[in-house]
Amino acid sequence: MKGNKCLTAEQMKEFKEILEQKKKEVLEDIKKGLEDQFRSEREIGDIVDMSTDEILRTFEMRIRDREAKYLKKIEKALQKIEEGTYGICEKCGNCIQYERLKLRPVAELCIKCKLEQEQIEKKFGEE
Ligand SMILES: [Zn+2]
Repeated sequence: MKGNKCLTAEQMKEFKEILEQKKKEVLEDIKKGLEDQFRSEREIGDIVDMSTDEILRTFEMRIRDREAKYLKKIEKALQKIEEGTYGICEKCGNCIQYERLKLRPVAELCIKCKLEQEQIEKKFGEE
């Protein structure tokens, strides 16, 4: 595990653990939701053994949008940890505050860019 200009190797490791824990929780939720839908159907046995990718590919239409999006964000954040770009704002390249990441480990933007983005979204009436 390597650090970068924003996070030390230890902090990187810390977030990796947090993200993997969150991923597990979301997957459990998704699986539970799917199991309810598939109760008494034969497919149910397979879901438990599936990887995240397989689940998303196979059941994307049935998984609640919010959960699918969150899971993808977690995957992306884990990918960035591997690449050593985690904690760097995708828009301006500045560091995302450690405190902000602690509250929202999947954050992709620093607080400044996030606020700008929200203002633009408000202006154009998007959610
Ligand atoms: Zn930024």
